[in-house]
Amino acid sequence: MLRQGLENTVSNTWTKPLTQVRSVPDRAEVVIIGGGIVGVSTAWFLAKQGVDVVLCEKGHIAGEQSGRNWGWVRVQGRDAREIPMMLESLRIWESLGQEIGEDVGFTRGGCFFAANSSKELAAFEPWVKTAQDYGIDTRVIDGVQLRQYVKGVTPNWAGAMVTASDGRAEPHKAAAAIARAAQRSGAKVLGGCAVRGIETSAGSVSAVITEHGVIQCSTVLCAAGAWTSMFCRSLGIDVPQLRVRGTVARTAPAEEILSGNLFDHRLGIRRREDGGYTVAHGSVLEHPITPASFRYFRKFLPALKQEFKLVRLDLGRDFLDEWRTPVTWPLDAPSPFEATRVLNPKPTASVLKGIRKNLDQMFPTLANTPIVESWAGMIESSPDVVPMIDHIEALQGFHIATGFSGHGFGIGPGAGKAIAGMLTGNDSGIDIAAFRLSRFFDGSPIRPQVSI
Ligand SMILES: Cc1cc2nc3c(=O)[nH]c(=O)nc-3n(C[C@H](O)[C@H](O)[C@H](O)COP(=O)(O)OP(=O)(O)OC[C@H]3O[C@@H](n4cnc5c(N)ncnc54)[C@H](O)[C@@H]3O)c2cc1C
Repeated sequence: MLRQGLENTVSNTWTKPLTQVRSVPDRAEVVIIGGGIVGVSTAWFLAKQGVDVVLCEKGHIAGEQSGRNWGWVRVQGRDAREIPMMLESLRIWESLGQEIGEDVGFTRGGCFFAANSSKELAAFEPWVKTAQDYGIDTRVIDGVQLRQYVKGVTPNWAGAMVTASDGRAEPHKAAAAIARAAQRSGAKVLGGCAVRGIETSAGSVSAVITEHGVIQCSTVLCAAGAWTSMFCRSLGIDVPQLRVRGTVARTAPAEEILSGNLFDHRLGIRRREDGGYTVAHGSVLEHPITPASFRYFRKFLPALKQEFKLVRLDLGRDFLDEWRTPVTWPLDAPSPFEATRVLNPKPTASVLKGIRKNLDQMFPTLANTPIVESWAGMIESSPDVVPMIDHIEALQGFHIATGFSGHGFGIGPGAGKAIAGMLTGNDSGIDIAAFRLSRFFDGSPIRPQVSI
């Protein structure tokens, strides 16, 4: 039962009425497709450098993944390729609220990965060594020490891997605040403005076709989240990407049992700025089977093997919806992006039940705390669970930034800085070579190092 008046703090991000622009600028230096944390952060960094940038979002800013995630801002446990970008991101988060003059809910409350056995605890050691190489404060603590940070718990944990400098932020605030900061710096942020396609001239981008008109430009960034693969396919560019659905819930404010984020195979839980908790199941990933599942089966096989115990396959409407969607469409008529302004999957009832049960069992102090809101988000993943940030050689001026795979919120601001560097040619200080798209096509082994 939801408590009156509290039910839409988060979901208001995508359920509020859509404000649509009526026209678009004739031209821009850079057009960004997608108003998630990656798109808005890039727009902000570009605008601060004086670049004339237009961002087009088909629905609401942060209406999809960036407004629906758990809000964990962590370096802990990441694939080593992401660490430099993530460390830069943490630096940006630290002063972000102050720099843009808006609250984004960031605080460093620490990140805990709990271990149920000494074997699980020992498995953290390689990452702790990696952390030491980067000067990160990650360490392993025992069960007694863990109880000093996490109060009133029933699991008899063997211990945890912890990074005290990791943090959390509020997804329903952050991306929209960054978008407003980008606007104040001169970016044009257009909500309710789907990009239908690209116009080319002699193999290069010459314009972006939106539902509200044409924007002449020679540089485009496709940061379209779960839609990137489909958008790129319409241009003849292959971007391997699949989706998994994540169900999330939020409790009413309650006693502080931890100040950061904790993961256990039963539950992912983080303290919220409003005094409640964002909670999700620790070991359920629901993959809606679609034609893309078959198209990319081989590339995703290593990830599937790794996540075998967590993945639940689901054959339903999504298959038919994708099957009915054409590979290309006319650019002078409503496109699939206008047909689905906001990708808004339903939370899965059985998963919500599991969340409630695990929360009550693990944290008896919260057993009477009501769940006041629930939602779901469609996470998009790359085959090795690391983003693809690249220019596309076959279409000069076209770039992608996608595949952030369940951990793109925390790294978003750092990614924005790096991507702005890629687009302008200015050195951002962040190496993006490891994120090249061609790693999935040139015979490089596809080896996911971390979980989605
Ligand atoms: C349930 C869940 C939990 C997660 N937990 C965490 C976490 O705790 N920490 C973390 O770091 N990450 C987490 N993530 C992952 C994180 O949310 C994503 O990696 C990140 O938000 C991706 O940002 P993005 O900007 O690439 O994509 P999105 O936020 O999906 O934004 C893409 C935008 O592009 C728009 N778009 C698409 N096509 C078009 C078009 N043709 N024209 C115009 N606009 C278009 C879409 O409408 C969308 O708004 C989680 C994700 C989910 C769903």
